[in-house]
Order: sequence, then structure tokens, then C-alpha cells
Amino acid sequence: MASSGAFRNGTQKGAMKLDRPLSLFSNPKSSSSSFSSTSSSSFKSKPGVRRSSTGSLPGVPAKDDASVSGRVRVAVRLRPRNSEELEADSDFADCVELQPELKRLKLQKNNWDSDTYEFDEVLTEFASQKRVYEVVAKPVVESVLDGYNGTVMAYGQTGTGKTYTLGRLGEEDAADRGIMVRAMEDILAEISPDTDSVCVSYSQLYMETIQDLLDPANDNISIMEDPKTGDVSLPGATVVEIRDQQSFVGLLKLGEAHRFAANTKLNTESSRSHAILMVHVKRSVKGKDSAPSSENGSMSSMLKTLKPPIVRKGKLVVVDLAGSERIDKSGSEGHTLEEAKSINLSLSALGKCINSLAENSVHIPVRDSKLTRLLRDSFGGTARTSLVVTIGPSPRHRGETTSTIMFGQRAMKVENMLKIKEEFDYKSLSRRLDIQLEKLIAEHERRQKAFQDEIERITIEAQKHISVAERNYADALEKEKLNHQKEYVESLKKLEEQWSKEQQKHGITKIELKDNGLIKTSREEIHAVSSVEEIAEVERLLQEESLLRRSTEEEANNLRHQLMLWKRSEASRNSEISKLQKLVEDEAHHKQKLEEEIAVLQSQLLQLSFEADETRRRIDGGGAGEVPNGLDSLISQVRHQQLRDSGDGEKASMAKLFEQVGLHKILSLLEAEDVDIRVHAVKVVANLAAEETNQEKIVEAGGLTSLLMLLRSSKDETIHRVAAGAIANLAMSETNQELIMAQGGIQLLSMTAAYAEDSQTLRMVAGAIANLCGNDKLQMRLRAEGGIKALLGMVRCRHPDVLAQVARGIANFAKCESRASTQGTKIGKSLLIEDGALPWIVQNANNNASPIGRHIELALCHLAKQEANAKDMIGGGALWELVRISRDCSREDIRVLAHQTLTSSPTFLTELKRLRIGYG
Ligand code: ADP
Ligand code: MG
Repeated sequence: MASSGAFRNGTQKGAMKLDRPLSLFSNPKSSSSSFSSTSSSSFKSKPGVRRSSTGSLPGVPAKDDASVSGRVRVAVRLRPRNSEELEADSDFADCVELQPELKRLKLQKNNWDSDTYEFDEVLTEFASQKRVYEVVAKPVVESVLDGYNGTVMAYGQTGTGKTYTLGRLGEEDAADRGIMVRAMEDILAEISPDTDSVCVSYSQLYMETIQDLLDPANDNISIMEDPKTGDVSLPGATVVEIRDQQSFVGLLKLGEAHRFAANTKLNTESSRSHAILMVHVKRSVKGKDSAPSSENGSMSSMLKTLKPPIVRKGKLVVVDLAGSERIDKSGSEGHTLEEAKSINLSLSALGKCINSLAENSVHIPVRDSKLTRLLRDSFGGTARTSLVVTIGPSPRHRGETTSTIMFGQRAMKVENMLKIKEEFDYKSLSRRLDIQLEKLIAEHERRQKAFQDEIERITIEAQKHISVAERNYADALEKEKLNHQKEYVESLKKLEEQWSKEQQKHGITKIELKDNGLIKTSREEIHAVSSVEEIAEVERLLQEESLLRRSTEEEANNLRHQLMLWKRSEASRNSEISKLQKLVEDEAHHKQKLEEEIAVLQSQLLQLSFEADETRRRIDGGGAGEVPNGLDSLISQVRHQQLRDSGDGEKASMAKLFEQVGLHKILSLLEAEDVDIRVHAVKVVANLAAEETNQEKIVEAGGLTSLLMLLRSSKDETIHRVAAGAIANLAMSETNQELIMAQGGIQLLSMTAAYAEDSQTLRMVAGAIANLCGNDKLQMRLRAEGGIKALLGMVRCRHPDVLAQVARGIANFAKCESRASTQGTKIGKSLLIEDGALPWIVQNANNNASPIGRHIELALCHLAKQEANAKDMIGGGALWELVRISRDCSREDIRVLAHQTLTSSPTFLTELKRLRIGYG
């Protein structure tokens, strides 16, 4: 209810009496326009109604956003006469007369006068529940599905059919289903379960206190009003998401039961309280804009991604009001006057608000009661509201009937301004953007890596080019130098030749001069002068040339020297580099060796710490529960059994017996005719075998052979169990392990395993085999004689103790294999894998029972250490388990071991790379 008149448009404010309302309920079959209305159908057909979300922030009303006027619609429903009325009032006519086709109701004032009222719909006593739903509630439900708030409310005197109209479940007769059930059916049929959701809360308002009908302990819920949007909610109420009709009906039933209980406790009737069902429908708007973007990263799709999807949040409120009759002020129900006032408070406040709204008053007293605060949006607000007023036919209640009708008439004058509740779904946008961001980061990283690789490649290439060019240049320089030297030597030769020629010529001329006398003197003199000049010139040239030659030679020498120096330093550098390389190689080799040693030590440490843990646990837990590694618990178990069987006194007497009778005698009793004696004897032997000091004696005396015989010859499960326990104890020593094998123990244990039903027998047998699995020398034989298969066969018994022993055996076996493969004595894949153990291992790798899970994690690590297993492990899904162990295992040592095995296997690394799982 808006406290101002802002949302009302003020039309149709005249008296409704005999006025035709703006629009009438129309043909129920065309449901979308049925309840109402021109205004309803007109807003629906308007394609471009502006949405508050497009122009303004969600929830902040824009000044002229898409509000559509919608008057509160009111239907009147007449209940048929009940049996009491049929009998008591049979002589009287009904106080009302309905004219459904005119949508009018005539109310008898007295015998001669009546008033006529017009409603949006007049529903006779024959109106079906289906029709009532279709004309009253269906248009509201459709609006809610479109993102509007909606209210359906029933008002009337107690017993006139409010609950019948709203809350009937119709389980016996589907035709009886009321508005709540039908509304949910329509909602569930309309929404898409992937993108939309429906949640409900169900509460009761009594004496201004709101109780949660889905959680009775929650009996004082407060109302919250969002100061920004004006939305009213009950944040304290239990909200249940509805996925199917059945669960909703279940919820209504639960609510009804709690309502009954609450009212009994408060000593009230449900007719005094208001029941409020709230249905929140959240739908994502499908359309071009909000469609999820395609995978390619184009700009347009990026932009599209940045548009948040739009959600519409409609809320349907169904209110089954308290009976409208006035409570007797004297407190006939045992209430004081104050209580009576309080009981009536909400309903009378509702009446006052509706009066004020109908009269267009400035002040609407919304805050006077919790009911009016809750219904603030339903009257004078933004919701589509439909009210059904229920009346009875009896003239005895004419007063109440009249006031009910007047209430309905006034409500018809209330105008709401319907407003769509749409907002951006920023959460889902942010989720989507997060994913995209992750993708982009990964892509960026990939590109950066490629870029760096490319730069590295180019750098190497460039260096190669440079060194080639340098070499070429040096070669060319050398060649050029040689050429120069050659040319120089040649030109020198030429000059020398020329000089000697000149010298010769000069000598001849002098002789001629003496012979030819004075006449020739002047000419010869001139000639001589010029010759001398020439010689001087040549000599000068020669000097210059030789100077030049000397300097060139010097330079050449210099260069040669430098080259030599450079070559020498290069050689020394090269030798240094090769020395360093050798050192690095040695170091790497050393490191690898150390790493291998560390791995071996770590696995040993792991095993030891495991054993220590188990022992500690056993000591703490008094030996109950597990039979882990050492068979101490078997010992204590056999002892407990003995103690239980015979008591302390007898235990002492047994030791005495041992002394007096002697071991041989006791062992011979194992073959006694009498089963009881045999059982007793085997228990004694088992008890003795539990003590380490006795073990050697027992084996020497042939006890091990006798125990194995018992497995073969006896059919008694107790004997099997106790004998297997004793064998398991003896199987702790290496010598005994070999003896057991030599005497066909594996076959006997396997056979016992195959037939045993008792989990404790299986646990002992598995414990014995598990011990044998830890012996390096027996591996091949153990497997050849079916030991592994027998071990695996025992997982049919799901007892955790048995599974723990099986897992221990597998881990022991895998450890021996990995040891052998490290030492190079084993090639080829694991016999465990050959015998089909991998699927069980993978299945149970996640087993939370700690000894099982731990053993299996160890087994996986040991298997993974053998490269020959890698392909099978990948195929069998073990790689994932290893990755998980290396990341999530709570024990650091196992985590480290798994990580090491993963990173040291080329096959695993390739596969991880192929799957693009970053692992380093
Ligand atoms: P209210 O909730 O108004 O107090 P109820 O819905 O409990 O009234 O109805 C009182 C009794 O009348 C119930 O037994 C109900 O089954 C019966 N009743 C009410 N309306 C109808 C109807 N339209 N047809 C048949 N029985 C009805
Ligand atoms: Mg009722």
C-alpha cells in the first residue's frame, strides 16, 4: 500500500454500486485476458513498454518508467449451503441472490428491500474450483511469470470458504485443487528449470507476530523494507526452492500441520490468523542481448558479453486472511480485551487502509499493522492484485455478509500501478567475465611464451650469421694481404730489372763519348745529365718503395702476431669451456644419482613412517580395528580371543601346559579326531605363534607345516581363521616366508580366500599374503601361484579391515617391483597390472578410510615409478589420481613422491602436456 497517492490515477473513483466497472472478468477460457481487463490486455499487447532496467539503475524507479495502471480486481464467491444450513434454514431464502451473467449480487436488506452490487466477477455456489482459479488467480500468476508482483487474497467470514478457495490440496479429488496448488502447477509448467527458479516461504501472522510455518521454532520473524526499492520481505523466513509439484504439496501439508500445532499451543483457531504464502519466481530474460556469446573472441561478441543478462523477479503472495467477523469484545475465546484488540489489529488496519485508498486520502495508515506493511505493494502499490470475497448464504449472518460485500466494493476502487521487476544479473555476468578473463590470461601467457621462443631462435640464428661473416671477413683480409705482398714483390722485381738496364745503357754511352770526340760532347753531356737525374729519381722511388715495403711487412707481421695471440687465447678458452662442460656433466650425473637415492630413501621413509603410524594407532586403539603391517594386532587379537575364551587363569595354565606337555604334543593335537580338540589346539598354537620368541621353535617343530595342513584338511571356519592368523604371524620373517612358499602356502591361502565368508578369516589370509608380497625374492612365484588374483578376489568382502590388508599387499608388491625396476632387474609392465589390479586401485584411490587410501596412494606412486606401466596407467585413469595425490594428498611426503614420479616420467609429461595440464 503506497502511503501517497502517487501510483493511483484517480479514475473510477465513483461508487461502484450499479456502476459497471472499467472492465469485467471475461471468458475464462481465454485466460490471458480473463481477469481483467482492458488494462491487463492492453499492457500485454503494448510491445515496446519501457523497462526500468534499460534506462536506469535496477530497483531505482525512473520517473516515467513502465508503470501500468491496474485496479484491484474483486470477485465474490458464494458457498453452497452446508448440511446444517440446509436443515436449520430450510424455511428461509438465502440472503443473497446472484446474477452471474450481469456480474451482480442482490443483498436482501429486509423482506421488501434489497441492494444491488456489481463485482468484477460473481461466482455462484456452483462455480468450479477450476473456473475460480482461472478468473481470479490465473491472470495474476501470468503477470508474476512476466516479472510483476502479484497478490491473491481471500476475505470473508469464518466458514465461508476462504481456505477452500485458496488452500485445498485436492488429493482425493483433483477437481478440488485450490488456487495455491493450481498456481504452482502453472508456474512450474512455464519456467525453464535450467535458467529459472521458484522459491517459497510460508508463514502465519497472529497477534502481530509472524511465525514460520516451515520451521515452527522460528516464531518471531521481522519484516524488512528496502528503503530504496520499497520491497517488503521476510528475511528470517525459511525459503525452500521448489522443483516439482509434489514437493510443493508436501510443503503446504507441512505448513498446515505446523499451523495446527501452533494454534493449538497458542489456544487459538486458525480462523484468527492470517496465512501468507510467498512464491518468488526468478526468470532470466531470453533474447538477442542476453544470449551467451559465442566462443570466438571477436570484438562484437566481447561487447555482447559485457551486457549483463536480465532477470525478472516476480513475487506471488497468496493470503488466507483471518475470519472477518468481529470478535466478541468480552473475550469469548478466553482472550482478554487487549488480546482481542491485538487479534483484530491487522485486519481492521487493512480495512482502514483500503478505505483511505478508496477515498483517495492523502494519508494511508500502512504502518499501523504488520499485515498492511506486508501488503504495502498489493494495495496502492505496484502489484497486480486479485481479491476474492467469500460469503455464505445464510440470512443469519446477514450483518457479516453485508460488511464483507462492502469491503469488496471498496477494494475495487483501489488503483495499483503495475511495474515490472527487472534487473541486471550482474552475478552471472561476473561469472562469465571471470571465465573469459581466465581464458585471455592463458592465451596471453601462451603467446608470450611463443614470442620468447621466437626471440631466442632469432638470436641464435643471428649469432650464427655473425660468426660466419666474421670468418669470411678474416679469410678475405688474409687473401687481400697475400695479393698485396705478391704485387709488391713483383713491382720490386720490375724496378730492379729496369734499373740494371739503365745502368748498362749508361756504361755504353760513356765509351761512345770517348770515341766520338768533342763534337758530340755537348749532346752527350746533356744526355748524361738527364740520365743522372733519372737514376736519382729511380733511386728515390726505390727508397720509397722499400720504405713502404718495410712498413707493410711490419704491419703484416703485426697482424700475424695478433692473429696468433687471438688463436692461442681462443684455444685456451675452448679448453676451459670443455673442462667446465665436463664438470657440469659430472655434476648432473651426480645430482641424478643423488635424486635417485633420495627417491629410494623417501619411499623407504614413507613406508617406515606408515608402519610407525599404524603401530602407534594400534597401540593407542588397543589393537581393535585394523590389521596393518606388522601383525602385532593379530597377536593381540588372538590373545584377546584366548582371554575371552578362557580367562586369565586359563592363560596361565596354558603356559604351564606348554611347559609340561611340550610343543610336539600340542602340535600333534592339531590332527586330533575331535574337532573341539583341534580348535583348541590351533588356538593354543596361534597364541604361541604370536610371541616372537616362540616362532622359531614352532617352525622347527613342524608347526608351520601342520598349520598349512589344517587349511587344506579342515572345513571349519574357526580353524581356518585362527590358523591363517597364526600363519600371518609366522609370515613376518623372511625365512618363514620362503618356507610358506615352498610348502605351497600361496595356493592354500588362495583356496581359503576363495571359500571364506567370515571377514576376519579374509583379513588374516589377506594379511598373510600381504606380508609375502613384501618379499623381493618371492614376487614371480607369488604371482605365478595366483597370489595377486587371490588378493584381488578378497575385495568382494567390503569390510574395511580386509580392504586395508589387500591395499597393503598391493603396495608392498608394487614397492618391490619398483625397487627391482630401479635396479634394472625388472623390465616390462607390473604384474599387478597384468593381473588386473589397476581398476580397483583407481576406484579406491579416493577411499577415505585412511589405511586403505594411504596404501593405495603409495601403490600408485610405486607403479608410476616404472615407466613400462605409464601407458596402462594413463589408459586406466591412474594419471588423474596421481595428479590429485600430488596436489591434494594431506601427507607431504606422499605428495612429493607423487610429484617426483610424475615429473620424472617422459610418458606422463607428454600426456600432461597433451592435455594441457600445466605441470612442472
Ligand atoms: P474459511 O477458511 O473461510 O473459514 P473453509 O474454507 O474452511 O472456510 O470452509 C468451511 C467449510 O465449507 C469447509 O468444510 C469447506 O469444505 C466448505 N466449503 C467452503 N466452500 C465450499 C464450496 N465452494 N463448495 C463446497 N464446500 C465448500
Ligand atoms: Mg480458513
